[in-house]
Amino acid sequence: MVTDTSSDTTSGTLHGTPVVPGLAHGPALVARTDVSDNAIAAFDGSSLTEGAATERYDEVAGQVADGFAAKAATASGAAAEVLTASAGLARDKGLRGAVVKQLKSGDDLVSAVEAAVESFVTIFTGMGGLMAERVTDLRDIERRMIARIVGEPEPGVPVPEEPSILIAADLAPADTAGLDPSVVLALVTERGGPTSHTAIIARQLGIPCVVGTAGALEVRAGTRLLVDGVAGTVEIEPDADEADRRVAADREQRAALASWSGPGGTADGKPIRILANVADGESARAAVDSAPVEGVGLFRTELCFLNRTEEPTVEEQAEIYGQVLSALAGEGPGDRDRYVVVRTLDAGSDKPLAFANLTGEENPALGVRGLRLSFGNPGLMERQLDAIAQAAKTAGTETWVMAPMVATVSEAADFAAQVRERGLKPGVMVEVPSAALLAHRMLEHVDFLSIGTNDLTQYTMAADRMASDLAHLTDAWQPAVLQLIAITAEAGVQAGKSVGVCGEAAADPVLACCLVGMGITSLSMAAAAIRPVGAQLGRVTSDQCEDAAEAALAASDPKAAREAARAALGL
Ligand code: PEP
Ligand code: MG
Repeated sequence: MVTDTSSDTTSGTLHGTPVVPGLAHGPALVARTDVSDNAIAAFDGSSLTEGAATERYDEVAGQVADGFAAKAATASGAAAEVLTASAGLARDKGLRGAVVKQLKSGDDLVSAVEAAVESFVTIFTGMGGLMAERVTDLRDIERRMIARIVGEPEPGVPVPEEPSILIAADLAPADTAGLDPSVVLALVTERGGPTSHTAIIARQLGIPCVVGTAGALEVRAGTRLLVDGVAGTVEIEPDADEADRRVAADREQRAALASWSGPGGTADGKPIRILANVADGESARAAVDSAPVEGVGLFRTELCFLNRTEEPTVEEQAEIYGQVLSALAGEGPGDRDRYVVVRTLDAGSDKPLAFANLTGEENPALGVRGLRLSFGNPGLMERQLDAIAQAAKTAGTETWVMAPMVATVSEAADFAAQVRERGLKPGVMVEVPSAALLAHRMLEHVDFLSIGTNDLTQYTMAADRMASDLAHLTDAWQPAVLQLIAITAEAGVQAGKSVGVCGEAAADPVLACCLVGMGITSLSMAAAAIRPVGAQLGRVTSDQCEDAAEAALAASDPKAAREAARAALGL
């Protein structure tokens, strides 16, 4: 990440990773998400007896829980659920018991809370699945309790008094759940990558967002900023009139996007399927209601079962898959029949399933995840394929099935045979570099490929997709990642078979045009990204897309690739 800021961060431009397009101009509002070290150092733990410390803990835990409950009362849906769960966790008797035990062993209150939370983090992480996801909430609760104990205000997102640009190190789920898009003009974080929680929430809310922005926390509250969620820049104290003019032009352009109604394709009429990524029946119905969806390019089936300890029966699975298939029944825009790409369980690594995964793997991202689960448990895959076939027959929606984490041609061939036996159309995901390099041979066995750019990037760059410190590496604009995508797309062109992209790269309107220029035939993304991507593609010709792809592939780094592609597209 390059910055050309002056040291006091009162002028210049910060650079980060753009994740949600759009321009915003307004004052900075800085969210403090950590308790200051000075305040903790100044806390005199020995002034409280064990009994007084326990009483103080009860008081603080109650206040933190009440804060979450009050926020939950003004939120709805998933946000309210997250906040209510955090309130329960702050009052948890087990957590209190662990704190009291630490106090009895002689710890002061701050150390007791830290040690108790640490033991819970270890337990939650070991349990995997949904419980592991609660670790971020636990850490948030810990910071809030400690802030109150040492006499500081709870860290978190201040309520904006005027429409503002929110700056934070990174945001906890409880912070993002309460964000009001009518007063938060844009989000800028110092840490986090394109797949971080902040990025996912910003995408859902449609707020311009730049993550991994070095130097963002040095910006003083109230400083006026111009955030560009396409270029990934944050201009400090820009010329106000010019900034307002650019924001107004952007707003006009976005209004034009809002009226985009599909079907997907370039300005000169090359058809490109614009599809949605979904997690269950509810998100599939929401996608169809909110955007001109031509099908589903990625149904992440594992997300239906994160809280299950037992494998669901074939009948239950068929019912759940059927909800997605029936939501997509019939024709989409342009009178094209919709279809759904169901992905078999991608359990493991960041999404462990209690009934499927091994525990205690040293390196789960490189371990038994996705298709690899079927090596030791072939029945799990067979039952899931039976359930998908049953659901497809009942719903009548065209159903394609793909496996995640495929590394060899024989894996693709075996999977394809099992899918064809059930009368369905087989494909595999390209997430491992070996699959991209052998795409032409994979296509001798399967009918389609779908590139999972999130994992393809992590495995190509050997950089954990969740590691915020490596956000500059986990960027699909990296030249090596673009090369592998181009190899895969070219294999599809040669074989005359469809090759889609279903990772986050498809949701970037500029990158989407480059992908099309490489030969990609479908783009699948969060429903909120469908109009921006569809409209952008509709404004450029296939020749421009090819030029953009060529320019990006020739660039030496992600920033240069993005700029070269923008120039080729006339942006
Ligand atoms: C990907 O890896 O790009 C992908 C779409 O799969 P997931 O994000 O579910 O791992
Ligand atoms: Mg993946």
